[in-house]
Amino acid sequence: MNRIFYRIFPLIVLAIAVAAVAIYFLLSRLFGDPLEDIARKQAAGPIFLLEQYIDQAPPDEWLVRLNKVREVSGLSLELVPLDTALPALDDARRGALERGNIVLDIGGKSLLRRVDLAGERYVGSEDEVLHVRNLPIDVGLELKMEALRYLVVALCVLVPIALWSRSHWLELLSLSQVADRFGEGRLSVRARTKKASGLYPLSLRMNQMAERIESLLGAHRDLLHSVSHEVRTPIARIEFSLELLRDAAGPDEREARIRLMEDDLRELNGLVNELLQLTRLDQPQAARAQRFSLAETLHDSAARLEHAFAGKRFAQELPEDLGDMAGDRRLVARAIGNLLANGAKYAHREVRLSASSSAPASSAPGGDGDWIEVIVEDDGPGIPADARERIFEPFYRLDRSRDRATGGFGLGLAIARKAVQLHGGTITVADSPLGGAKFILRLPRGMASGARLPETASRN
Ligand code: ADP
Repeated sequence: MNRIFYRIFPLIVLAIAVAAVAIYFLLSRLFGDPLEDIARKQAAGPIFLLEQYIDQAPPDEWLVRLNKVREVSGLSLELVPLDTALPALDDARRGALERGNIVLDIGGKSLLRRVDLAGERYVGSEDEVLHVRNLPIDVGLELKMEALRYLVVALCVLVPIALWSRSHWLELLSLSQVADRFGEGRLSVRARTKKASGLYPLSLRMNQMAERIESLLGAHRDLLHSVSHEVRTPIARIEFSLELLRDAAGPDEREARIRLMEDDLRELNGLVNELLQLTRLDQPQAARAQRFSLAETLHDSAARLEHAFAGKRFAQELPEDLGDMAGDRRLVARAIGNLLANGAKYAHREVRLSASSSAPASSAPGGDGDWIEVIVEDDGPGIPADARERIFEPFYRLDRSRDRATGGFGLGLAIARKAVQLHGGTITVADSPLGGAKFILRLPRGMASGARLPETASRN
């Protein structure tokens, strides 16, 4: 059933009826009652007789002519007192009758007209009214024709609306079927609406939403899979150490086993902390907006990692006029800290941290605004072009054996990217002139430049 049409149908019929009545009243007000015009044309013969034959008679012949008309026509002509005729009329008609005009009664098929205004026809003729009945008036046909006209207009409006609403209804049904199937778990279904359709923007949004939900669920499934996999290794090692602990020969061996188990527990703890950090960054309110000095934050992040650079050259090119930025200082520091820690881990000899800021762009809304660029690069093995997107996925590592040795879970870059995205920024990777990887972090300086940080306190 096409519900759109059945909802709109009574509304359109009502609108056309209201339009018909409004048109009638407007025309009556501006040009006089159209029905009266029609009735006057239909009664033109008797009116002609009255005005041109009876009225033109000399006073002594007036009654004779009146009787003659009575005899030859089917009209009924009666004389009634003016006082009797006036009360039955409305104000406008009463005035017209008093002025000596013809007053038509369409429903009664009759007319009223004063005999004369000066009493010249006979004694007291100024107080008498000629009531002519059985006039050949029939406005029924005109009313039927008018109704037919509005009916044709209504049909001409309703037919295209019915066709239009039917196509929309079918498209709505197919969209709701897609939503049903998606709800049942078939996450790959998509709406296929024609570009010309009015529902195309809606189906586009639905498809984008479905795409996002599918990829989010996929990412969650992969994450769960990776987490189980990552957790399994230290648990297996703890189980193994426990077995060995039972058979330990002396206190020294027991102590050594316990230390190994503590290491594994620390690893598990670290993994859980990193995971919590990553999932919290999925919430837009994970960040707290504040104004802070970027140069200071970069210096602090580097200082905190000083021990990691031992034995490696660490160069900084940080202009002091970098200025302030609006955002969550801890999250920005965490992102940069993760990049620096990686640089320190993978560099052979050198890590370089540099930063610059774009000239303030036009302040027009929607403009690019002012951006800050932070670069962390090293002379390590670099990152192959085909892995430059994947390294930001949780638990993705280029070389598992190498990274296991360096103690990474593969979550550092995922956390860094999420923290930067929360600020409306980006992290990309390129080749460094130093020979290794070059991480380019772009951050909008202010909230207006695209950061989506609400003024709420961070929970972590
Ligand atoms: P991890 O904690 O294992 O370092 P990350 O998410 O920080 O995890 O990095 C993901 C992977 O990206 C790393 O395992 C490593 O293979 C690669 N990677 C990250 N930074 C660098 C770098 N500076 N040079 C070379 N490879 C890197």
